[in-house]
Amino acid sequence: MARVLILGGGFGGVVAAERLAEQLGDEHQITLVSRTRQFVFYPALVRLAFGKCNPKDLSFDLRTAMLDRRVNFIEAEVARIDPFARIVTIAHGDVEGRLSYDYLIFALGRRLATERITGFYEHANHLLNIDKAIQFGKAVDNFHEGRAVIGMCPGSRLPVPMFETAFALSRRLAERGDRDRVKITVVSPDQFGMEIGDEAATALRKMLSERQIEFLHNFPIKRLTQNVAMTELGRSLDFDLLMLLPPFRGASAASDLGVTNAEGYINVDPSMRVIGHDRIYAAGDCVNFEGAKMGHMAVRQGDVAATNVAAEIDGQAPVAHYFHELKFVIDEADNNGIYLHKNMWADGPATLRHGRFWSWAKRAQKEFWEVSHS
Ligand SMILES: Cc1cc2nc3c(=O)[nH]c(=O)nc-3n(C[C@H](O)[C@H](O)[C@H](O)COP(=O)(O)OP(=O)(O)OC[C@H]3O[C@@H](n4cnc5c(N)ncnc54)[C@H](O)[C@@H]3O)c2cc1C
Repeated sequence: MARVLILGGGFGGVVAAERLAEQLGDEHQITLVSRTRQFVFYPALVRLAFGKCNPKDLSFDLRTAMLDRRVNFIEAEVARIDPFARIVTIAHGDVEGRLSYDYLIFALGRRLATERITGFYEHANHLLNIDKAIQFGKAVDNFHEGRAVIGMCPGSRLPVPMFETAFALSRRLAERGDRDRVKITVVSPDQFGMEIGDEAATALRKMLSERQIEFLHNFPIKRLTQNVAMTELGRSLDFDLLMLLPPFRGASAASDLGVTNAEGYINVDPSMRVIGHDRIYAAGDCVNFEGAKMGHMAVRQGDVAATNVAAEIDGQAPVAHYFHELKFVIDEADNNGIYLHKNMWADGPATLRHGRFWSWAKRAQKEFWEVSHS
């Protein structure tokens, strides 16, 4: 009998738990630990902010969903991991103290490092959880003129909601008759496009300019006051409404493992095994792969990690391997969408598609995910 412990009830952890339940016999024990019993479908948060769906449309109860799959669910806060004693320390929740494991899958996502931007807490909106998305939606309702800045901080590694927010805001203001009174500026911390190639970056910029949205690149925000965003070198930008994606860092509970890069992301090999520790795998935003951090990557990595844990329990070498691809759909808020696909482990530009299908596909993906996992 093996005890498999999965940390984190997001895309990576949920898929890993489901795959293990399919692949392991009943004699093995599968436990999923997560901070809250609510699974949140993050890609729909921009739609939530703009009132296009309700909180209950993008979340489901993990305890019930896992029970149906014979996975023990524990709602608790993970504090530390001792990879040598194979023990996880729980700070508080359904259980307190220590949980032992034979195999561990670490899927605690990433941390929002808002402390790296002076004034972020006081002056910025973001939409990276349900409450913050609703709060930003209220700020949009009360905003009628001036400049809106929508941007990413250095290290935020998530361009999709930045573009979707700019498109949705432009459309909302036009519907209300306020568009002519508002300047919208999208801010990127670096030379946007290095990751996706010139053609894709040009297409995105064109979509912005068609909506009279200004694009400002190489503007790494470091400090905020009530109405001004500043870089370290003293460049500044005024705003009346701000939505900013904060810097990301690896999950705090990974810091004791001694296997992270400078930003706290866990080093893994393509079988999703943590480099330097036995019987520990990792999946999702917490791992150290280059580029944006996306849900489809977490899903594939959770699948690979679970398949290889099952193989290892069976005495076999890893049978599944992760291949690093970037795929995303940006919903343009007018029934159109742009789809981008890039092989991250090869040179060459991204493939780009554009049209009504992609916007529909993104919404359909949410429905499919919820029906098939809840
Ligand atoms: C607004 C927004 C839009 C996005 N749009 C897209 C998109 O269009 N396409 C796409 O592919 N991706 C998109 N993403 C990215 C995608 O949501 C993430 O890549 C994905 O959620 C990562 O999954 P994960 O399982 O690694 O981490 P998470 O989903 O973050 O899950 C981590 C889990 O661990 C739990 N946890 C964390 N720390 C602890 C702890 N100490 N103790 C216990 N539990 C803990 C958390 O509560 C959470 O349940 C978007 C994200 C956001 C925020």
